[in-house]
Amino acid sequence: MAGKAVVVALGGNAILRHRETGTAEEQFANVRCAARHIAEIAGDGYAVVITHGNGPQVGDILLRNELTKDILPPMPLDVCGAESQGMIGYMLAQSMQEALLAAGVDCPIATVLTRTLVAAADPAFEIPEKPIGPIYTAMQAKRLETEKGWRMVQMPGQGYRRVVPSPRPIALVEGEAIRRLSSAGVVVIAAGGGGVPVIKGPGGTLRGVEAVVDKDYTAALLARLVGAGDLLILTDVERVALNYGRPDQQDLSEMTVAEARRHLLAGQFPAGSMGPKIEAAVGFLDAGGDRVTIGSLGSATAALAGRAGTRIRR
Ligand code: ADP
Ligand code: MG
Repeated sequence: MAGKAVVVALGGNAILRHRETGTAEEQFANVRCAARHIAEIAGDGYAVVITHGNGPQVGDILLRNELTKDILPPMPLDVCGAESQGMIGYMLAQSMQEALLAAGVDCPIATVLTRTLVAAADPAFEIPEKPIGPIYTAMQAKRLETEKGWRMVQMPGQGYRRVVPSPRPIALVEGEAIRRLSSAGVVVIAAGGGGVPVIKGPGGTLRGVEAVVDKDYTAALLARLVGAGDLLILTDVERVALNYGRPDQQDLSEMTVAEARRHLLAGQFPAGSMGPKIEAAVGFLDAGGDRVTIGSLGSATAALAGRAGTRIRR
C-alpha cells in the first residue's frame, strides 16, 4: 500500500537555467522557489523526499577541473558527482530550512550523500552515449581519446564532448538509511544527480565508476523505496506535450499509463530529456505507485493537487 509520501524530483536545468550565468545567488533563488512549494506540501502532512538532477552543475565542476588541470589534479567523474550532491544538497537544505520555518512546519532535514548500485554488465557500458562536461576542439578530443581513453563525439555545430555510459539504477546503497529517516518524519534530500554510480567488486566492495545515472530513474526507485504514492517531477516546462516544439504542439493535462507507453513508442519523448521521465513514470505506476505528475518548479503545489502540470495515472 502506497502511503502519503511524495518524492519530489527537481531538474538540474530548472535549478541552473540556460540563460543564466550560474552564480550561487541565481541557483539559490531557483531552489528557494521550489523550497517554498515543497514546504507547503510538507505542511499538508506529506512525508517528503527530495531528489535533484546535476547536469549543468557537474558540467561547471568538470570545466573548472579542466581549466585548473595544470596546477591541481582533476577529479574523476564519481568524485565530481559527489561534489555536486554536496553543493546542491546544501542549497536545498538551507532553502528548505528557511521555507519550513516560514510555513511553520517543524521537521528536521537531512541531506544523504547517496551511492547508486549499477550492474557492471549493464549494456550501457558498451555504448556510452550521455554527453557531459565542456566542449573541446577536434585536436583536444583526439588527445583525450588517446591519453585518457575517453569516448568523444562530435556535437553538430559545436565541437566535441565526452560521452559516458548511463546505466540503470538497481538499488541505493544508502536506501535503508533514507527509508528509516523518511518514515521517522525527516525531510530527506537524497540521490542527487541520480546518485554516484558504483559497481560491486570482489568481496562485497564497491567501486565508483565513470558513468551517470539518470535522476528520473533513480527518483522512481526512491519513490518505491519509501512507499510513496506520488512522484512529482519538476522541470522547466509546464506540461508534457505531444508534437513538442512543433506548430501543432498539444499540451497534456492527463495521460493514462497505457497512453504514456504508446506515445513513448511513437517517439514523442526524446531519450535525453522527456523520455526518461515518462519511462520512470511508467515503471513507478506499474510497480504500484498511484500518481506521477510532471510540471514546473513554480507550480509544484498546484501540480501535486492535480491543478497544474501533466498527471499520469495507473
Ligand atoms: P531536467 O533537468 O528537468 O531533467 P530535461 O532537459 O532533461 O530537464 O527535460 C526537460 C525538457 O524536455 C524540457 O525543457 C523540454 O525542452 C524537453 N522536452 C522534450 N520533449 C518534450 C515533450 N514531449 N513535452 C515537454 N517537454 C519536452
Ligand atoms: Mg533530464
